[in-house]
Amino acid sequence: MDYFNLKDGALACEQVALETIAEEVGTPVYVYSAATLRRHARVMKEALAALDDPLIAFAVKANPNPAVLATLAREGLGGDIVSIGEYRRAREAGMPPSSILFSGVGKDADEMAEALAGDVLQFNMESVEEARMLSAVAVAAGRTARAAFRLNPDVDAGTHAKITTGNADNKFGIPAAQAIEAFRAARDLPGIEMTGVTVHIGSQLTRLDPLEKAFVRLGELVAALRGDGFDLKLADLGGGLGVPYGPGQPEPPSPEAYGAMVARVTRDWNIRLAFEPGRLISGNAGVLLSRVVRVKPGEHHPWVIVDAAMNDLMRPALYDAYHHVEAVRPSGARETINLVGPVCESGDTFATARETDRMAPGELMIFRTAGAYGAAMSSGYNSRPLTPEVLVDGDKWALVRRRIDLAEASAMPVPGWIDQTS
Ligand SMILES: *Cc1c(COP(=O)(O)O)cnc(C)c1O
Repeated sequence: MDYFNLKDGALACEQVALETIAEEVGTPVYVYSAATLRRHARVMKEALAALDDPLIAFAVKANPNPAVLATLAREGLGGDIVSIGEYRRAREAGMPPSSILFSGVGKDADEMAEALAGDVLQFNMESVEEARMLSAVAVAAGRTARAAFRLNPDVDAGTHAKITTGNADNKFGIPAAQAIEAFRAARDLPGIEMTGVTVHIGSQLTRLDPLEKAFVRLGELVAALRGDGFDLKLADLGGGLGVPYGPGQPEPPSPEAYGAMVARVTRDWNIRLAFEPGRLISGNAGVLLSRVVRVKPGEHHPWVIVDAAMNDLMRPALYDAYHHVEAVRPSGARETINLVGPVCESGDTFATARETDRMAPGELMIFRTAGAYGAAMSSGYNSRPLTPEVLVDGDKWALVRRRIDLAEASAMPVPGWIDQTS
């Protein structure tokens, strides 16, 4: 459920008309609903209420906007981070280090040192090579790093290949057959205390059975490690639960069903559990608001060209992802269209042969479910500025990211020697 609804014939975010935001900020612009963010955080907490003190660490990469993170921090969510930039944002937003999990396959020594100095709860490591680097960093700093290894459970997550992460062919984690050896090797390293295990098999999962299979394998690893003398304190079950993207798209299981499955599978684990939801929290809490530039006749359907493009919302080009689109002030008329942006790539296509609201030049429209992996992935391709972001809370709203001209922000003088080069 979200808070983007028709109000007096036009879409509003909570109490604020999207037309007002478009007028004052311009388009394209991302608009987030604080009430929806809070609601999703609470739904997740309620779904996990049967567990003892679960840690819910928002996957910061899904939406790293400082105002979004601060909203979630006020709900008691921690952060799952994959870079030191995300670490700093999580801390600045008010997420305590004891709620921060450091994931990612390529953390470098500087990143490890800064996160260790900040005393993050756990480093989720992906190889023995990484453990050696973390050990050296910890010894140099005179500290002990709490760490886990990520299990690659070799399950098919049943999602898009580019967001599958728990398959033997993926770069992530350590295969079950090598996991105990990896834990033993890390135990022998100074500066590291092996406190946990973790697994994350992919994103936008629309079935529970691959998750259950992965959790069962993680439970087997927990039991085997305890038999080997490890004192484990945290089992991190990752993120990945899908969200509804719209009509005709797979309906993911509810957070309640997910929570019930987790409670059943982990009943005898006797360990604190952590979760890393990203999309589930922020996906349906955001829309991308855009304006139709023009409509060009097409062979089969008209090309509706909007001022948002693949650089603003990459998911359709990257994953063939579906985003539901609507007119901000629907007239009731419907039309089958091709929806595209202005970027010079045929991949800059949001929808093909889509039946939707008729959209005339100059009209406003939205892409729904754009609050996760939307602005976070945006770029300045085609010398387009980075899309601004707005957070709405009731009848209040604020610009929470400026429209950034990257050419200006990164400008350096052209080197004088190019004139001497023949
Ligand atoms: C991306 C990611 C998540 C979040 O995935 P969602 O599908 O957005 O819930 C959680 N954990 C790790 C390790 C990730 O890489």
